[in-house]
Amino acid sequence: MNVLVLGAGQLARMMSLAGAPLNITISAYDVNTDDIIHPLTQQKLGAGLAKALADVDVVTAEFEHIPLAVLEQCQQSGKFYPGSAAILAGADRRQEKALLERCSVASARYSVINNHDDFNDAVNQLGLPLVFKSALAGYDGKGQWRLKDQADCTGVWQQMADFLATDSKQAIVAEQFIRFNRELSLVGVRAGSGEVRVYPLTENHHVNGVLSVSLARPLPRQLQQRAEQMFAAIASSLDYVGVLAIEFFEVEGELLVNEIAPRVHNSGHWTQQGADVCQFENHLRAVTGLPLGSTELLRPSLMVNILGEDSTPPAILGMPGLHLHWYGKSKRPGRKMGHINLSASSLAELKARFAKLIDLLPAAAFPELEKMLSKLTD
Ligand code: ATP
Ligand code: MG
Repeated sequence: MNVLVLGAGQLARMMSLAGAPLNITISAYDVNTDDIIHPLTQQKLGAGLAKALADVDVVTAEFEHIPLAVLEQCQQSGKFYPGSAAILAGADRRQEKALLERCSVASARYSVINNHDDFNDAVNQLGLPLVFKSALAGYDGKGQWRLKDQADCTGVWQQMADFLATDSKQAIVAEQFIRFNRELSLVGVRAGSGEVRVYPLTENHHVNGVLSVSLARPLPRQLQQRAEQMFAAIASSLDYVGVLAIEFFEVEGELLVNEIAPRVHNSGHWTQQGADVCQFENHLRAVTGLPLGSTELLRPSLMVNILGEDSTPPAILGMPGLHLHWYGKSKRPGRKMGHINLSASSLAELKARFAKLIDLLPAAAFPELEKMLSKLTD
């Protein structure tokens, strides 16, 4: 089987690594250059979407910010999973919010801002504090503004007005600021038959809007079931095929959806070592029509993102239960360069191993890891 992935980053790379044992061969399409790329070596294999689509059995995506013309061409091939409607629901926060409303899934109250009147309405009707997010092209907390005090309205609006003036297709979604107890995500997979399998809820810790640590361990059954119901409602309303991720805020035991990602997700990287079949393989199984694999948690696990660093102390590789995954990228400040997966046979053992890992890693490059360490006693 040959699969084309829209996007040539680390997610295409990890799909390629997971697909090889099943004789699934991945090529990656760079939507900016129109080049076909080898997802591991980054060598150019060819150019042009039409030829690439003709040469493969299936096309899928590793990200959602894809030009409309590319999405339409893929959709017309009849080989595109999860398909352009699902990708657009993840790419445009207006569509995402409308989808959640259609599915009767709870999320933060919101309104759409196109002009100054809309901004004033949002402040009056939703109240402060507010989070503003660009409707299009947001990722890793980029394209966001916070408003806490009435006194800052003029300044924040001016920044947003300047932003809106740069692109007529843009809008801003204003959202109530949620005082959440923690952030969770659910990664799951849906087959063409409608069968759904989900991994256990993952607890996520962000630093400056970017995911830093994900922790997977059994959580209360009721919470997991609630998340699974929301996942099933969203996935079936999109007639979704492939891996889908849903980010939640947990507020006093209730779940609010923050956003969806129509693809394999950073908070599911721990599945490479902690689950029976990882998210990358399960995505490929779903989009190529193979039976889904088990999503069972085999052992408590966590993942630490490596941001803006291209080396880690060699000693960490001597630790039991530790796996290092580099993405082969050149170094840039804050860039997702790789991740560390750490697993153990019990939570107590995971905690001890995580404490050792924190000791070995340079604190400046890996801030706030202790916050997750303290949760391992909860
Ligand atoms: P990513 O692509 O990394 O998931 P993103 O740019 O799509 O990020 P969000 O997930 O919407 O953005 O927001 C980034 C982070 O900002 C969230 O994980 C959360 O910590 C915080 N955040 C977002 N919306 C709210 C909200 N309404 N109330 C409180 N915090 C929020
Ligand atoms: Mg997010």
